[in-house]
Amino acid sequence: MVLPKLRRVPDGNEALAAWVHHGMISKADFAQARADMVEHQIARRGVRDPLVLDAMARIPREAFVLSGWEDEAYEDQPLPIADRQTISQPFIVAFMVETAGLRPGDRALEIGTGSGYAAAVMAAIAARVYTIERHPTLAKAARTRLRELGFGNVEVRVGDGTLGWPEAQPFDAIIVTAGGPKVPAELREQLAIGGRLVIPVGDSMHRQSLVRVVREGPEKYREEALADVAFVPLIGEAGWDPSRR
Ligand code: SAM
Repeated sequence: MVLPKLRRVPDGNEALAAWVHHGMISKADFAQARADMVEHQIARRGVRDPLVLDAMARIPREAFVLSGWEDEAYEDQPLPIADRQTISQPFIVAFMVETAGLRPGDRALEIGTGSGYAAAVMAAIAARVYTIERHPTLAKAARTRLRELGFGNVEVRVGDGTLGWPEAQPFDAIIVTAGGPKVPAELREQLAIGGRLVIPVGDSMHRQSLVRVVREGPEKYREEALADVAFVPLIGEAGWDPSRR
């Protein structure tokens, strides 16, 4: 299968080369691992959207993990990143992006930039991605990484994502990659009509239900629970109180 070239990654190979160690792992190994990941962990589990599969097949996940963890990058699990946070399991990234129904031309918001990996997957599909991270060091590293990889359509901001990004609204899709006690009202209100919000919600700080909210009209929202998930906590005004951690 010939995959269309990503629009905003001018030279994926060049960018990837910068991340490949001159050691045991070659670019070809990473490319093979990525293709295996898409086939076995993602497509075989039911993700069908070709835009999502293409994006997952092209983003070099090894560029987003902690130094020294590159050979784990395509494992079927989340991995640790700085500030005691995680880069999500590949399948859950693909599932959330598919569930949010991201389309070319969309304006999308992500809450919880972390490594920047999910933002890169979203930016390979959407026209513009806004992403908010509460940890300044993670935001700075993600911004640099995304720029070096050639993503000119992602803006990274430090702050409390539970309040959204009012100046950039309305969004066609919002993806929250940390689990909160409720769906933040500000995020609902920043959806375009027809927009989709995907967020882990639950009474526990560490176990949630993945919820999709579709804005069907100015005051009309449809909400459905999709799967049980386990995300790091969403900390903020409309999330968990940091003192409860
Ligand atoms: N999307 C990330 C990736 O691809 O690497 C994974 C994110 S990690 C599972 C969740 C992130 O949400 C953490 O980096 C955490 O610091 C961040 N976070 C938690 N509460 C937040 C908030 N209120 N605003 C912004 N970021 C928040």
